[in-house]
Amino acid sequence: MNKPVMAGNWKMYKNPADTKAFFEAFRPLVAAAAHCEIVICPPFLDLPAALESAHGTKIQIGAQNLYWGKEGAFTGEVSGPMIRAAGATHVIVGHSERRQFFGETDATVLKRTIAALEAGLTPIVCVGEHLAHREAGQTETVLCGQCLDGISGLDPAQFAKILVAYEPVWAIGTGKTATPEIASEAHSIIRRELRRKYGDAAAANLRILYGGSVKPDNVKSLMAQAEINGVLVGGASLDASSFAKIVNFLS
Ligand code: PEP
Repeated sequence: MNKPVMAGNWKMYKNPADTKAFFEAFRPLVAAAAHCEIVICPPFLDLPAALESAHGTKIQIGAQNLYWGKEGAFTGEVSGPMIRAAGATHVIVGHSERRQFFGETDATVLKRTIAALEAGLTPIVCVGEHLAHREAGQTETVLCGQCLDGISGLDPAQFAKILVAYEPVWAIGTGKTATPEIASEAHSIIRRELRRKYGDAAAANLRILYGGSVKPDNVKSLMAQAEINGVLVGGASLDASSFAKIVNFLS
């Protein structure tokens, strides 16, 4: 049985000194957390500080994006092999902020996901609908389209290695969490769509994380849903005490 994944996305917050201070406070608070995997995704420039601070603990470190080329004349980009060589194990792909502000599409999500896997990284592939889609009754169509175009190009061996994050765009950074029932329903849509291509066992093994205003006071009810296999946390992962409460949701 795969453990739930409790992941933090620091977005464009914290410098190396902040990163070290976070880990000083966070490490002892999660030292006994054997029930889950913990992943923290800081900005690129904080990766060395995070990796050094997490050394010898079970906390895994990820990046927030990667380019699909291995190396070359791509000014400003960072590749999967570079992230892996730095010591990170995970990478977020297709976050809604990348889709919204940086032209990410399902096609580029698929390229980045394959590049991450080829570099030995675990991609956390993000999908999710906008409020307008939900209000127009298009949630299922949008999620299935993102799965079909952004994920289904993976072969079964690649698919077995990814994590998916369902992040309804209307819940990210807004304080509006999807109810556990809404999140659970979206997760079953995603799993059902991917089951059509990869089969029962692979779909059942896929860990789908929920993301969107997860806080210490709502994590327990979200994690109580069988369909929710972890969380991807933005704002509340910036504070050691609040992210530790999320990680320790069982207590
Ligand atoms: C995110 O950035 O992936 C996220 C879910 O943010 P927040 O928890 O702040 O809504």
